[in-house]
Amino acid sequence: MAQKEEAAAAATTTEESAPASQNGEDLENLDDPEKLKELIQLPPFEIVTGERLPVNYFKFQFRNVEYSSGRNKTFLCYVIEVQDKGGQVQASRGYLEDEHATAHAEEAFFNTVVPTFDPALRYNVTWYVSSSPCVACADRIIKMLSKTKNLRLLILVGRLFMWEEPAMQAALKKLKEAGCRLRIMKPQDFEYIWQNFVEQEEGESKAFEPWEDIQENFLYYEEKLADILK
Ligand SMILES: [Zn+2]
Repeated sequence: MAQKEEAAAAATTTEESAPASQNGEDLENLDDPEKLKELIQLPPFEIVTGERLPVNYFKFQFRNVEYSSGRNKTFLCYVIEVQDKGGQVQASRGYLEDEHATAHAEEAFFNTVVPTFDPALRYNVTWYVSSSPCVACADRIIKMLSKTKNLRLLILVGRLFMWEEPAMQAALKKLKEAGCRLRIMKPQDFEYIWQNFVEQEEGESKAFEPWEDIQENFLYYEEKLADILK
């Protein structure tokens, strides 16, 4: 630990070569808050705090179909922007998946990432989630926002989860009242995820290929959400 701090200090006094060596480090200890804090404090987009999604996961889980049968996991990609004491905005990103986290992905974010926040700084967090939160997670988000005053949260979702249910609709309304911004992902948002959070194989085209009904489904969910929140 001490050795690493020394190395980091040395790097800042010489060249900005620190990110290169830190990039090479394993990300095995992401559940260690100190380790995660270190990663989050790195310069913008030098490092991804978590592995990229396999292409197939993205193509299946994020697809904004109207009926999400078989899609029973939640993938949560996040971007954290924090303004440091010098006024510079630093960003970090990663993804969580509920199967590995053994909790809903939203809860996993609160349990592993939020505890690393410095109460003296302000955090703008954007989530790109395959589907909107369940009632229990909506409740957790509301509680987390009320006790974490330095956190602003924007949630972009591919699909609305169980939106026909009155309890779910009520939960989404409460989420909005609690100051959480909720949006349906546009085709450009899926492209952003593709470019920033999905594994890219060497030598393969990196262009995002939108599926046929991407725009139509976006409009479908956007209209449902507007109806629920009005
Ligand atoms: Zn949930």
